Amino acid sequence: MSTTEEKAPLNFIEIKIEEDLKNHKNDSKVHTRFPPEPNGYLHIGHAKSICLNFGLAQKYNGLCNLRFDDTNPEKENIEYVNSIKSDVKWLGFDWGDREFYASDYFEKLYEYAIKLIQIGKAYVDDSTAEELSRMRGTTTEPGIESPFRSRSVEENLELFKKMKNGEFEEGSRILRAKIDMASPNIHLRDPAIYRIKKVKHHRTGDDWFIYPMYDWAHGLSDSIEGVTHSICTLEFEVHRPLYDWILDQLEVFHPQQIEFARLNLTYTVLSKRKLLQLVTEKHVSSWDDPRMPTISGLRRRGYSPASIRNFAKKIGVAKRDGIIDVALLEHSVREDLNKEANRVMGVLNPLKVTITNYSEGKTEMLSAKNNPEKEERGERELPFSKVIYIEKGDFMENPPRKYFRLSPEKEVRLKFAYIIKCEEVIKDKSGEVVELKCTYDINSKSGSDTSGKKVKGTIHWVSAAHAETAEVRLYDRLFSVEDPAGNKEKDFLEFINPDSKVVQKAFVEPGIKNFNIGESFQFERLGYFCLDPETSANQLVINRTVTLRDSWGKKKN
Ligand code: ATP
Ligand code: MG
Repeated sequence: MSTTEEKAPLNFIEIKIEEDLKNHKNDSKVHTRFPPEPNGYLHIGHAKSICLNFGLAQKYNGLCNLRFDDTNPEKENIEYVNSIKSDVKWLGFDWGDREFYASDYFEKLYEYAIKLIQIGKAYVDDSTAEELSRMRGTTTEPGIESPFRSRSVEENLELFKKMKNGEFEEGSRILRAKIDMASPNIHLRDPAIYRIKKVKHHRTGDDWFIYPMYDWAHGLSDSIEGVTHSICTLEFEVHRPLYDWILDQLEVFHPQQIEFARLNLTYTVLSKRKLLQLVTEKHVSSWDDPRMPTISGLRRRGYSPASIRNFAKKIGVAKRDGIIDVALLEHSVREDLNKEANRVMGVLNPLKVTITNYSEGKTEMLSAKNNPEKEERGERELPFSKVIYIEKGDFMENPPRKYFRLSPEKEVRLKFAYIIKCEEVIKDKSGEVVELKCTYDINSKSGSDTSGKKVKGTIHWVSAAHAETAEVRLYDRLFSVEDPAGNKEKDFLEFINPDSKVVQKAFVEPGIKNFNIGESFQFERLGYFCLDPETSANQLVINRTVTLRDSWGKKKN
């Protein structure tokens, strides 16, 4: 970087890395990893971790591994593995040929456990779960040493091998590290490092009857892969002494664990358990329901990878837990789509308008800018004819003084088309306005207006004869309160926003047919939308990503 270029201030992780580089630690290499457990779909919190880990590798010319932390076979499966891979790729990151699995190291991890037993630092404990928990002590009281703590190395080796061979029942024995039952840090009170589980693993099948605990598998996997900086969320800070202890005892390569604050978002839950519950209890349609904070949900909703990466950049990394306003995420997608999304005319709540002085059966092709932010996107042709639809909300029979849209005897401009004047209001029996009869000024065509008229309002419209009908799904925040999981009396499910999905029929300009599934567009004046994968040859399905402006700030909750 040249000296004149402005440098963003370094975050605390970058400061640590730059210090290590200056001291030529790890041969001046930076190697990170993103270590998801394949027990659910990734969410926006994981996106923060992905952007951080892959981002640091990019910035410092290093590498970032994708490592599946697959040590809990009951909860993990290949569907999750595949979704995680496609989400990381979609976000724009590449792990090259470094797709690793903790389960690839089961043999090595077992050998390390043998070594720990051999140096007298691990033992097999036959205590029951209740006994173990009783002996663990509390935050204020030290633990009690297990009667099995003084077993000989030979006996421990023998028993551990039998555990491995499936000779004991699940829950009957564990292998524990022998550290210090009086440690103020509960994680150092002889933590379990292996447990018996007679469960089929999605990769190793029935090979194993014992599975390593997180703390054993994680640090050693980091070490095996040559990870230099093992970045994790704050709740692991109290595990760091154990992380270090294990690597020190075994005298293996020792990565540096660094903790940062996890992402919490308002109006959102990010616990995998709660997200799974939303899916299995069918409060949402699937993991990729556009209201879910999962990466696949955000993608289907119309979020771009860039908007998520920009969001991650904006929130930065901190050492203290906090909560980010979801409006910032919504702002990031608006900011990106305002530049990127082409404009489309669509009417969500149609009101029929007949232009009485326009020839019956005539179609005029008008030109419309695709994207005012990007001239190079050019123009498209928009059909105009005698009967059009406008938005119900763009007409008022008795308007207030400064109302510039359509009302009786008043004029308004139809975007990219003509100025029309409302001559007659037609109502049904109930008094609801069902049609407007208008006249147009032939000299007021956009781009070649010689009418001399000045009208303040411009509204969108579509030609009735040419419009496509579509099912539009108006998505909004899934929860109606800021902290749905933080209420002690009520379950988070009680705060699901009943208006989070509103389905409507809409009329859309015919050019909508040229859009691809997932491609974003802006319905002029309404918001950002995209075509849902459920779109078929005879049914357009459109998702709303966000409205043009944040309306939640004004709502009273
Ligand atoms: P659990 O461990 O309870 O299944 P988890 O959300 O921690 O859930 P992991 O698959 O272990 O899920 O997470 C993978 C990585 O993503 C970890 O390094 C974790 O620290 C990080 N991560 C998870 N949630 C967040 C979050 N909300 N903000 C930032 N990073 C997160
Ligand atoms: Mg985790």
